[in-house]
Amino acid sequence: MTVQQVLEKFRNGTLLEKDDACILLEQEVGSREYYEILWAANCYSRQTFQGKGMVFAQIGLDAQPCSVNCKFCSLSADAMGKSCALIRSAEEVLSQAKDLAKETISDLFLMTTAEFSQELFLEYGKKVRNVIPEEMRLVANVGDFGLQYAERLKKAGFTGVYHICRLREGVDTGAKLETRMHTLDAVRKAGLELYYCVEPIGPEHTNEELADEMLRIREYPVGVMAVMKRVAVPGTALADRGEISAARLAQICATAVLVSRPPRAMGIHEPDELCLMAGANQIYAECGSNPRDTNRDTEKGRGFSVQDAWKMLKKTEW
Ligand code: SF4
Repeated sequence: MTVQQVLEKFRNGTLLEKDDACILLEQEVGSREYYEILWAANCYSRQTFQGKGMVFAQIGLDAQPCSVNCKFCSLSADAMGKSCALIRSAEEVLSQAKDLAKETISDLFLMTTAEFSQELFLEYGKKVRNVIPEEMRLVANVGDFGLQYAERLKKAGFTGVYHICRLREGVDTGAKLETRMHTLDAVRKAGLELYYCVEPIGPEHTNEELADEMLRIREYPVGVMAVMKRVAVPGTALADRGEISAARLAQICATAVLVSRPPRAMGIHEPDELCLMAGANQIYAECGSNPRDTNRDTEKGRGFSVQDAWKMLKKTEW
């Protein structure tokens, strides 16, 4: 099959399969075919999302040596070493949530390490729900859980959950693939919106591995899909493997759009102009802890502000 035949299949409304995704992913960066893939994804998203960009915001609640010990994460037990644990107070989180709610964001994410108490998280969630507008989506980005907890998240006011099977789960992370899938099933069963992402992408990942993650969402109703490159955070075990280029990320982003056809938005982590021209229309503003940052207040480090995010969306004519 040629790239043109795969794109024709996409335009006819036929779902792309693993082989199709691999054909798109194996094209040389900068080739004519490469740009055709980016163009097709850009057309899909501009039309489907009607030219509208979206900004989500995330607050990282804690920085504790996390026992899941993902080899790319600044909050893993190995990377944190003897650094002191930090749990932000409810007052601090509420104040950040109130400030973010005044801005033009649609979805607010609360993120924790896997060490954070589930009960405490529900308390924080309920409090945040009370200070943000009713129409604002509230999303949990936390460790694994079962159906009972998923239902409690919903009752506490969460509308969705960001949860994924990471690339090389169980090899580069201390989590089991089955446990991650069990959580995805709980999210679906509880009727919470699932946010998915192919991540964290490094230079060593094969096209087949990337395609498998893009196809995983076929089993689940996912409104917002995303891709994220791995950031080579100093002090993490995988930092030496380096990072993929922005050009390659744009190709992966475009392929993910064509394979998954996200109905509500396509996200890119971290904000990236090339990807916004290759099918992405949604980026994050971040504050608090961040697994991709060594600064405990990522808003003073890598994290974008809401204004930064809108500026970039505008630059790329979203
Ligand atoms: S990515 Fe999440 S689960 Fe993995 S070590 Fe970091 S905080 Fe823990």
